[in-house]
Amino acid sequence: MGLEHPAYGQLRQVTETAGVVLASNPGMMTIDGTNTWILRAPGSDESIVIDPGPRDRKHAEAVAAAAGNVALTLITHWHYDHTGGIKRHRKLTGAPVRALDDKYVRDSTSLSDGEVIEAAGLTVRVVRTPGHTEDSLCFVLDDAVLTGDTILGSGTTVLSSSDTALADYLDSLERIAELGEGKVLLPAHGPDHPDAAVVARQYLTHRHARLDQVRDALKLLGPDAGSLKVVRHVYRDVDPKLWVAARSSVKAQLAYLRQHG
Ligand SMILES: [Zn+2]
Repeated sequence: MGLEHPAYGQLRQVTETAGVVLASNPGMMTIDGTNTWILRAPGSDESIVIDPGPRDRKHAEAVAAAAGNVALTLITHWHYDHTGGIKRHRKLTGAPVRALDDKYVRDSTSLSDGEVIEAAGLTVRVVRTPGHTEDSLCFVLDDAVLTGDTILGSGTTVLSSSDTALADYLDSLERIAELGEGKVLLPAHGPDHPDAAVVARQYLTHRHARLDQVRDALKLLGPDAGSLKVVRHVYRDVDPKLWVAARSSVKAQLAYLRQHG
């Protein structure tokens, strides 16, 4: 009998080539904690690690033990619960680290959209998916998509406060809906799912429904209503503790509607 999510601190194999070590950092923004993914082709003596996770000695040791000889470490985006552990991970594995943002690159070069990486017997395609953060990436394998925080295993993604965040994010979801067809969703938080495209389409439906709600709220509250007023109205069914996060999404929605109507 295999392990089930959430299984803290031990390797849980999900597909033939992907296993996960879940960090013990559960919280409002991290759900059950950060998933550190370990990829390895059958028979390969090397691995690829996706997101070292937070700064946590036990987690870094569990990842290093499960990952063995790490050829390469990739970063989905800059958030601390994904990158805080880079230093200790490097100490334990010595692996080069690659990310879109130079700041997180170690002993290598930054990643670029469309780049194809061959390592640990696997082919990994890098896909830029901004929205959650400006530097968010997805990594596409033959049978799976690693979505970072762009698509989560449960709940919804918080957007950056940039004026183009929502437009970017909707484009990113469309991309995943296209290239994730029939591929297993391997998110950075929450459980995996058999089909990334299915979840991407659910996210698109949800985002468009929220946009409709914000449009309706503006009809009621007036076109110049502030973000907090709109949050109180649209997210009245959501725990007020999440309103701070929701406000950032609403700011993105208001900016989107100002540009796109
Ligand atoms: Zn994040």
